[in-house]
Amino acid sequence: MSDVHFNTIALIGIGLIGSSLARVIKREGLADKIVISTRSEATLARARELGLGDSYTLDSSEAVKNADLVIVSVPVGSSGDVARQIAGSLKPGAIVTDVGSTKGSVIAQMQPELPANVHFIPGHPLAGTEYSGPDAGFADLFINRWCILTPLEGTDPDAIAKLTKFWEACGSRLDTMDPLHHDRVLAIVSHLPHLIAYNIVGTASDLEEVTNSEVIKYSASGFRDFTRLAASDPTMWRDVCLHNKDAILEMLSRFSEDLASLQRSVRWGDGDALFDLFTRTRAVRRGIIDAGQEVDAPDFGRQKAGQSST
Ligand code: NAP
Repeated sequence: MSDVHFNTIALIGIGLIGSSLARVIKREGLADKIVISTRSEATLARARELGLGDSYTLDSSEAVKNADLVIVSVPVGSSGDVARQIAGSLKPGAIVTDVGSTKGSVIAQMQPELPANVHFIPGHPLAGTEYSGPDAGFADLFINRWCILTPLEGTDPDAIAKLTKFWEACGSRLDTMDPLHHDRVLAIVSHLPHLIAYNIVGTASDLEEVTNSEVIKYSASGFRDFTRLAASDPTMWRDVCLHNKDAILEMLSRFSEDLASLQRSVRWGDGDALFDLFTRTRAVRRGIIDAGQEVDAPDFGRQKAGQSST
């Protein structure tokens, strides 16, 4: 049993991340009561059927009334709306956090709306899959995955320590970062790979008409690894692109330059340059395996349930 405990945790948004939190909170006994709120009746009804919480409401302001921890798990473009809805009902001293994949924009949307007597600590668990909704969540999602907190200057260290313990009890490893630094790092490790995947799968799907299903038939040659990323939730990823625009554009422009150089190596038959690059990239994967962020299994560990960090 963990030594961190809340009387009431309110979960606003109960999709992949929110429902994974509900499951792990229950399993680890991190709260006496879990209150669940979401936008649609259908999702709320499903959360109730799955028994994810102790009480359920479509009214997010009602949900947060007695909560000492509020976790907002909605697409980043909706963070400001949620903050406006809950601001007037928050309990003084409550910790308010989020799980959004971008941090600068979430802070800009939420901070001005929230009262000064709550502890707003933005966060981002680097754990996810390509599935969404309350059925997609599972209690082990956060195990051994990083969770990055991006606290603002002047935040109460006790509140940060309590939220840190909460995520550790969920299985995460914790790091803190400046929000803008977070957004640049995530642009390269998560946002750019997703954009590349969306792009290559889009191109292949255009070509598919020409090649008469050969793209799908022979997908194991490499293509299918992109299709998993490209199957990620369209709403979430539209919002990520719109809300981390500057960092994504910066990384895209570096990527385009490097791609042009790779193109040149292929055109001029520069085998040494190709070999050097491919040797360097192979070492990067080795480093990821050594850091425990991927399994050292052939076929990308496909036999086990896939997890991605977003
Ligand atoms: P999800 O499975 O699609 O669930 C989204 C939840 O947000 C649903 O409960 C949905 O409600 C609610 N919602 C959607 N639009 C809303 C709006 N305009 N106002 C209020 N509520 C709204 O999404 P998720 O994967 O859990 O992602 C949630 C957050 O976690 C996002 O900010 C994402 O960037 C971040 N994140 C995702 C991953 C990942 O891999 N998926 C990883 C780390 C962080 P209804 O169903 O009732 O409409």
